[in-house]
Amino acid sequence: MENFQPKIAIIMRDDEIIKEFNLKRVTVNTSFGPVHRCYEGYIYNVPVLIIYGRFNGEKVPSSYINHEQNIEVVKNRNISKLIGTFVVGGINPEMPQGSVHIVKDLVGMGPYKIHWNQNQPFHNAEMYEPICPKLTNMLIAATENLDFPVKKDSIYVTFYGYPRIETKAELDFYHRQGWDIVGQTCDPEATLARLNRICYAAVCVQIDDPLGRSEYIGTLKEKKEAKQYVESIKSCRKRTSKLVLEFLKKFHEEECETCGKLIRKNNNFREFPDDFYE
Ligand SMILES: [Zn+2]
Repeated sequence: MENFQPKIAIIMRDDEIIKEFNLKRVTVNTSFGPVHRCYEGYIYNVPVLIIYGRFNGEKVPSSYINHEQNIEVVKNRNISKLIGTFVVGGINPEMPQGSVHIVKDLVGMGPYKIHWNQNQPFHNAEMYEPICPKLTNMLIAATENLDFPVKKDSIYVTFYGYPRIETKAELDFYHRQGWDIVGQTCDPEATLARLNRICYAAVCVQIDDPLGRSEYIGTLKEKKEAKQYVESIKSCRKRTSKLVLEFLKKFHEEECETCGKLIRKNNNFREFPDDFYE
């Protein structure tokens, strides 16, 4: 495995893929400390790095996730492409649990904070087009042979309501806006990828839908035995894994004209002009 250089990183929890392709666990050092949950090897002919989920060590609310550390893993392994896989909430009553989505755009509905190394010049990420079009087109091409439908232009709203999921009023509002899915992690991951000039794309699967959540509460009220209203995370993830595998089967390296260049650097920050000092 010496000199092994992954061409793409994928954040994905899939034990079967790691076993089937005999990926080797490696530790990647970052300025936040080592990340042990990394797996490298070939999937089909593509050298990949899998980061096994976003939580380092323990399960905590999503606001505790060290997204910067996860992105630093990708950067420190000299990888310029990243695909995030996500389990998300459904917004559209027409899209049932289990529906699979390729993200086209993001909406941020709340604050998040990142640590900023103040020795580095600061700039805001250019996010007019937050998702890499090249990677996304390859994901779209990979849906051809799947035995389930994939919505290929979904809008993901990032909800910072932790530690809770969305209210009915929030889902109704999102639906009226035309947004498709909701989660707590795709951003700031996408923003940090952009700040680090990494091509980024996202694949999501819905664990629930508004009707299922409503019906579940209805059956509780009627004192009937309530059926589980979420599909199991494992069976949901099977679908995003299938899409990622099809993507890797067809993966070819393509020059991306945009993601690496979308920077708005400000190297000349001064608090105020020098001649304002007495
Ligand atoms: Zn790109």
